[in-house]
Amino acid sequence: MEDTIAAIATAMGEAAIHLVRLSGAQAQAIMGQCFCPQNAKRWQEAKNYTLYLGTFHERGQKIDQVLVARMAAPSSFTGEDVYEIHCHGGPLLAKKVLEVCLRAGARLAERGEFTKRAFLNGKLDLIQAEAIIDLISARTDSALKLAFSQMQGGLSKKIHELRDGILDIYSFIEAGIDFPEDGVEDLDRGELRQRLRRGISQTEELLAGGKTGKVLRDGLKTVIVGRPNVGKSSLLNAMLQEERAIVTDIPGTTRDEIHEWLNVDGILLQLIDTAGIRESTELIEQLGIERTRKLLPDADLILLMVEANVPLNAEERSLMEQYHPKVIVLANKCDLLQGKELKAYAPESVWLPFSVLEKKGFAELEREIKRRVYQGTLVQQEDLLSNVRQIQAVEKAKQALRQAEQALTERFPWDIISIDVRQAMRAVAEITGEDAQEALLENIFSRFCIGK
Ligand code: GDP
Repeated sequence: MEDTIAAIATAMGEAAIHLVRLSGAQAQAIMGQCFCPQNAKRWQEAKNYTLYLGTFHERGQKIDQVLVARMAAPSSFTGEDVYEIHCHGGPLLAKKVLEVCLRAGARLAERGEFTKRAFLNGKLDLIQAEAIIDLISARTDSALKLAFSQMQGGLSKKIHELRDGILDIYSFIEAGIDFPEDGVEDLDRGELRQRLRRGISQTEELLAGGKTGKVLRDGLKTVIVGRPNVGKSSLLNAMLQEERAIVTDIPGTTRDEIHEWLNVDGILLQLIDTAGIRESTELIEQLGIERTRKLLPDADLILLMVEANVPLNAEERSLMEQYHPKVIVLANKCDLLQGKELKAYAPESVWLPFSVLEKKGFAELEREIKRRVYQGTLVQQEDLLSNVRQIQAVEKAKQALRQAEQALTERFPWDIISIDVRQAMRAVAEITGEDAQEALLENIFSRFCIGK
């Protein structure tokens, strides 16, 4: 029999309440041992989705007055019998309640084990499980919206459509292999090509949305570069003074590297190495430039600040050559132009007139960032792929379908084409978890906290 698991589901510390969760076949027996309901008759009626008031105790020794929620199998989050004990919000108290549950036969849950059980019991697929982590760690409204829609199964539905399409292709090929009829061969090839094309364009559509989804979820890695004194730290301060700046520290980021997060109308800008900008002595400027250069290949967005109507130097020109699709040039100190026309020295890039001093150019910058993220092509912000795992799997499916199309063009036998199509099917099944290895599950669920 599967273990019954228990964990504290709330963040430790003093709070109004804490919540201890139990899930498994013995959950009911464990509650029977340590919970004394105020209304024994109601408790015995064992109504589902009901809250019960009572005393939590260990062998008669009272510990707290608690509320217990009962959610019986199979209509619970995990699909097993689940009990949630709401005790008063002392950390010691919550620990005691948990310990009593453990002594009564439960085992401490591993990270994400409740959600993993929900997945294994078919309550949700892998996309939905990952969406729960995203929902918890979302930092902008659009990230929240995206995660919620994924949790509700919006993206899963699209992936199922893709899977069904590929499955159709597979059956079509198998039928062709089983009943090879001379004469209709060419007709079938035409039909097969069409179906493969349809599959490929479905993957392409998903991947296009994935670019946006990933930015909404993870933010846009942004580096501000420019010569000393051009106005970088003034820009940074101006941006951070807006109330939308997010000042909380995000765990897992090195203090030295990422200092600030900015919410630009639902798009999270991850301002990288702003520490370098704040340090201002000559020597550190030099070091800062070295450091910044290393960050550029990895950045999604480079804000190159220059002084209006000062020609680019060699370094700036080489930066533009290498990175111009992700560069936005901010021609700062436009207020000093005194009516003179602004010269764009690198017309292949977007060149925005700017003045931090007079607060000019910010709205245009915001508009340009949004235009890049949404690419003008997107109909909606929901049901998008959003993490690297999902994107890579769809990419794999696309490559396999392309290979199948190539094999078809080269008139390979159908059973060879079938191998590619099967590979595409496997890649898609990996996304929802229908075909997921234990290592992958381990990797995903270990990112949850204990009690989730
Ligand atoms: P950094 O070295 O690139 O970080 O540059 P700073 O932000 O320290 O700015 C250098 C100088 O330029 C400061 O004296 C700022 O007040 C000034 N400055 C920044 N932005 C503007 C602007 O838009 N117009 C004018 N006239 N001066 C500015």
